[in-house]
Amino acid sequence: MRDTELYHHLLGLEDPWFVREVNLDTEAQRVDVWVEHPKGLHWPCPECGIEGPLHDHAGERVWRHLDSCQFQTFLRARPPRVICPEHGVRQVRLAWAEPHARFTVLFERFAIEVLSHTHIEAGRRILRISWDEAWHLLERAVQRGERRKPERIIAQLGVDEKSVGSGQDYVTVVCDLERATVEEVTEGNSCRSLQSYFDGLSIEQREGIEAVAMDMAGGYINAVSGSLANGREKIVFDRFHIMKLMNEAVDKVRREEHRMLGQKGKSVLTGSKFMWLYSQEKLPFVYREAFSALRASTLKTARAWAIKENLRELWRYKSRAWAEGFWKRWYFWASHSRLQPVKKIAKTLKDHLYGILSYCKHRITNAMTEGINSKIETLRKAACGFRNKQRFRTVILFRLGGLDLSPATH
Ligand SMILES: [Zn+2]
Repeated sequence: MRDTELYHHLLGLEDPWFVREVNLDTEAQRVDVWVEHPKGLHWPCPECGIEGPLHDHAGERVWRHLDSCQFQTFLRARPPRVICPEHGVRQVRLAWAEPHARFTVLFERFAIEVLSHTHIEAGRRILRISWDEAWHLLERAVQRGERRKPERIIAQLGVDEKSVGSGQDYVTVVCDLERATVEEVTEGNSCRSLQSYFDGLSIEQREGIEAVAMDMAGGYINAVSGSLANGREKIVFDRFHIMKLMNEAVDKVRREEHRMLGQKGKSVLTGSKFMWLYSQEKLPFVYREAFSALRASTLKTARAWAIKENLRELWRYKSRAWAEGFWKRWYFWASHSRLQPVKKIAKTLKDHLYGILSYCKHRITNAMTEGINSKIETLRKAACGFRNKQRFRTVILFRLGGLDLSPATH
């Protein structure tokens, strides 16, 4: 078999294309394959499909193809241009590559597969492509996925801010809680950041949103109240954010008490910091004995901890009325605790009670996207922080967007 014929098969070329020449460069470990078509053909317009005679050829283009025997393989051709009575002079669509691609469809599909399972740096080394080419691939894949994405109603959303790189630079990540996919990544962590997501939805999609899980900070509350009908009723403040605030309050009480005790001698709280942060049933066995003594003491920290642990009960109620009854008792206890950090959080929770009791109805938390959050964190670290937010968005949607990314083969 001649090498031109061999490559005709390897490339999966379709009529009318044939291989004119193959050049093997053993030094550079690369194969260049020139393909051509016979003269006198008619070509379909890429817009309307109406066939017309050849007008001329565009300049030679190069597409990276799948390696042949570890040699990088490049396809080369001059794309024909056709005159359409309606659309004028247009470049014909080629079966082996999408418009503007630097790779053949087969290479692109393979590369997407590799990059879906590795970090960009590792993936680009396997594929032997530059950073620039890797980005070109990722960006095109995400654009392709977004173009194909069907318009769906998402009933339960999770909204969370994520820091980009270091410092006070954030993006807002909007998740579909049912499918556990990232729907959108927008700039900043303000009201506008979430609003711009809502602005991109159809009326049906906006009306279809039943609940939004979020934390109590930030402008997200205003975005939901302002953009969705009965928005306030759809807000569910995330249970884990709330418990995190409570844990911080317990820690503040402990630090203050530890300092006071230290002034009078050795503090019994020495070395106990982490014990107080566990929930009761998760406390490691080695701490059990020491901790049960501390818990039973008259320490302020023990009281703060008990109040914190008790609050967890709130999310067990199925009936809103019962939850509200529980809340009132808890709030009385917390607000009369004479523990400043605990009182402060209790007040914050009271101001946001509408979005806490709404859990009884919607029963959602952002914990459903915990896997997503840790993956985003891994992506961020792998890229040593993203200075460019647009790229951070691309990577997140590429890996976690649930998109159909690959170009179709013919
Ligand atoms: Zn046309």
